[in-house]
Amino acid sequence: MDEAMKPAAEEARNLNFLEEIIEEDLKTGKVQSVITRFPPEPNGYLHLGHAKSICLNFGLALKYGGETNLRYDDTNPVKEDIEYVDAIKEDISWMGFQWAKECYASDYFDQLYAWAEQLIEQGQAYVDDQTQEEISKGRGTVETPGVESPYRNRSVEENLRLFRGMKAGKYAEGEKVLRAKIDMASPNMLMRDPILYRIKYASHHRTGDKWCIYPMYDFTHGQCDSIERITHSICTLEFDVHRPLYDWFIEVLGIFPSHQYEFARLNLTYTLMSKRKLLELVQKEYVTGWDDPRMPTLCGVRRRGYTPESLKLFCDRIGVSKRDQMMDIQLLEWCVRQDLNARSNRYMVVQKPLKVTLTNWEKGKVEWFDCPLNPAEPEGASRKVPLTGELYIEQDDFMEEPPRKFFRLRPGGEVRLKYTYIIKCKEVVKDADGRVVELKCTYDPSTKPGGGEWRSVKGTIHWVSTAHAREIEIRDYDHLFLKEDMNSIPEDKDYMDYLNPDSLVVGTGYAEPALLEDASGIAVQFERTGYYFKDRDSTDERAVFNKTVALKDSYRPE
Ligand code: ATP
Ligand code: MG
Repeated sequence: MDEAMKPAAEEARNLNFLEEIIEEDLKTGKVQSVITRFPPEPNGYLHLGHAKSICLNFGLALKYGGETNLRYDDTNPVKEDIEYVDAIKEDISWMGFQWAKECYASDYFDQLYAWAEQLIEQGQAYVDDQTQEEISKGRGTVETPGVESPYRNRSVEENLRLFRGMKAGKYAEGEKVLRAKIDMASPNMLMRDPILYRIKYASHHRTGDKWCIYPMYDFTHGQCDSIERITHSICTLEFDVHRPLYDWFIEVLGIFPSHQYEFARLNLTYTLMSKRKLLELVQKEYVTGWDDPRMPTLCGVRRRGYTPESLKLFCDRIGVSKRDQMMDIQLLEWCVRQDLNARSNRYMVVQKPLKVTLTNWEKGKVEWFDCPLNPAEPEGASRKVPLTGELYIEQDDFMEEPPRKFFRLRPGGEVRLKYTYIIKCKEVVKDADGRVVELKCTYDPSTKPGGGEWRSVKGTIHWVSTAHAREIEIRDYDHLFLKEDMNSIPEDKDYMDYLNPDSLVVGTGYAEPALLEDASGIAVQFERTGYYFKDRDSTDERAVFNKTVALKDSYRPE
């Protein structure tokens, strides 16, 4: 290849480092096809960080004609719940991905147990009677090597007998553990005889009371990958120190060689992505539930009106990095806007109403206007909007003494009512306190769009006919936390100290009637304001809309 052409060609392909690895593996024949897995622990609802992992795992398999398993990493019986298992499936399906197999680490408990016995027989695992404290202490520190357990050199027979006893429930929790016999002086602390099994008398959501010993993460994950013949096991950066152990088990057991690769986890400004902390927010009722629209959970953003398409666009834009990244939540909001701008239906809703009376309007007359649901498709579907002689406009669209560049309504000034006539403000009516309560205006019948000659004015404002206005509840959301980087909280502070007390503001809106008939199933645009998604709290009497994202923002992605 021409050297000068090379960078451009590479750039055009724009592969991320995982794609590079996969393409190399396919080319050299190291793997025949790509099999990935998404391995959530069912101890909480999925969040936006998981969306990144989902897009990566499913996306890579799709791109290279492979498959992705959904694997529940369910080795901790105490924190796990069937509620989470179901919610995770719902979220992945909502994202638009289909898993090849639904797997559970707990389905492999028999095989894992057999492998533990195999290690004992190979002289590579032993039962340790030390207490948790003794084991921790014996591990040493990063600077000093550990000391070997006094139980380290038990015979194979004794270890087998004791381990079977552990399984049979002969011992109390904490009395014994099974450890791998690796190297107590290894510079990698995880290689200093890691614990493989601990005793836990807890019912498991799938295996019930069959087991009272449970395998540790490190003794589970790689072997599950191997059983499922996962070729590329992708996880977050903090697992890179686990990789030698992952490889060690695969090697000494002589099983299918899955490989682990690490990428940087996603962090977002003004929010948190730890299931433990999100659970605490739910339990302490700082939010209404896992699907509170302020939550960074997938069910939360779904209820808020974010679309799977916008999340995929976001994951695409942020790419895959090997260094930890703090992403600007505004980029995510920009992605949501991009998607909704193209697809959402438009309606007019007034949120801070100011009454306008058209003094020259024929009493009792209702004129219906055919207005496109999406201005990008003027010939597409439309809705009917009624105009009468009494309207609401936004208070902010009128100023008695406006600054120079104010193009909306002012005393004596003109403005176009969106889709209809130009009106002129003739009189400002005030209450006893001097507040503006009504504008008396005239409309110019010659300015009907599509009829006669087009006269233009600088400002166009939205409006609703008061007689037709439908009152709706509007829930306006702000960031859940006030601090931009919630990963760096000072020692003397708690993350709860940064909760935004104004993250939810409930208001009222006056909507054109067609809004209540919208059947698009996605967020709609309230013209000139933002995107809003109908909430499940809506009743026949009162519709509730969640603000998805504001319409405009100065933010521009790089
Ligand atoms: P949490 O700390 O929120 O509990 P976790 O990593 O323990 O997260 P798991 O259920 O174990 O949650 O995660 C399933 C998969 O999603 C793992 O492969 C994990 O690496 C990935 N994942 C979790 N959080 C993020 C994140 N913020 N960004 C990218 N991937 C993530
Ligand atoms: Mg986890």
